[in-house]
Amino acid sequence: MLTLTDLKSLLATPQKIVITTHHKPDGDAMGSSLGLYAYLIQKGHHVQVITPTDYPAFLHWMPNNTNVVIFNEDEAKAAKYVADAAIIFCLDFNTLSRINELGELVRNSDAKKVMIDHHLEPEDFDDYRHWNINACAAAQLVFDFIVNELKDGEFINKDVATCLYTGIMTDSGSFRFASANAAVYRIAADLIDKGAEHDKIHQLVYDNSSEDRLRFLGYCLSNKLEVLPEFNTAIISVTKDELAKYKSGTGDTEGVVNYALSINGIRLAALIIERSDKVKLSLRSTGDFPANEICKKYFNGGGHRNAAGGAIEKPLKDVVNEFKSILLEYKAQLLA
Ligand code: 5GP
Ligand code: MN
Repeated sequence: MLTLTDLKSLLATPQKIVITTHHKPDGDAMGSSLGLYAYLIQKGHHVQVITPTDYPAFLHWMPNNTNVVIFNEDEAKAAKYVADAAIIFCLDFNTLSRINELGELVRNSDAKKVMIDHHLEPEDFDDYRHWNINACAAAQLVFDFIVNELKDGEFINKDVATCLYTGIMTDSGSFRFASANAAVYRIAADLIDKGAEHDKIHQLVYDNSSEDRLRFLGYCLSNKLEVLPEFNTAIISVTKDELAKYKSGTGDTEGVVNYALSINGIRLAALIIERSDKVKLSLRSTGDFPANEICKKYFNGGGHRNAAGGAIEKPLKDVVNEFKSILLEYKAQLLA
């Protein structure tokens, strides 16, 4: 284990640092990573952000995005950075399986591992942990780490603020989830004071769809939405061919599940997608319905109570049927 004092003294001199985040990074994964990056480079550190896979085009505008190495596109280069690192920051995930093959490299590395995360049930692979499941985003915890633990609030410049604002905005559903409490709004206000342009950031993230992506959404809502009022549940399932027809790229299915959840009375929504090697599920729920429990118990996944995911190697039809049969077990909770 590493104390905060140990970590501070390690960070007092320039270090080789790797920042990594979860598979198929979202706005919080990239926002927290590039925000921490923009802070650490001001302190003279040699920093490399490594993502396990690619990420949506609507995040490519972020400051320092060109410095990101994508592990599955350049494994040798990424592995060298991990091997040389003195510190590895692990952001927005807490089990090494969330970073795919990169996980074993991180596990076996001699670097000090720092976890900054807000997911349940962390695996014990880290040396220092800034972890709080009540945080609305990992980016909120990066802010807290820089300002309140490292006492370096003066280093929150425009780039740091822009990235951290993006993470908080995306993971809090544009500040609408219960996790976006008064403290989060105060942090957002601070980040705006430091240069985050909230109107531009929102536009860059949310008004950045291709025509195909919008038409795909329309197709899902008109043709693929199945509402099961007897379970207060709505399901959208999509085949590989349908994804191909709409040229769906990384991130293009993000947000689709929320439309299913927006139906009056729906407590659980599922987006079930046939990918090349497996079927991926994205669940969203309202109130205290535990979407993560279903993902953990049946689909090798997990997540938060109201937003969870998992994957399974079975034909799409079977997964949809299995999901429907699981609803029986939860009927009382779904109708409560
Ligand atoms: P999404 O539906 O956007 O893929 O994921 C929603 C949330 O569920 C993510 O923020 C993440 O916390 C969690 N999640 C998604 N997929 C997995 C998975 O395969 N394993 C685990 N443990 N969590 C997941
Ligand atoms: Mn997050």
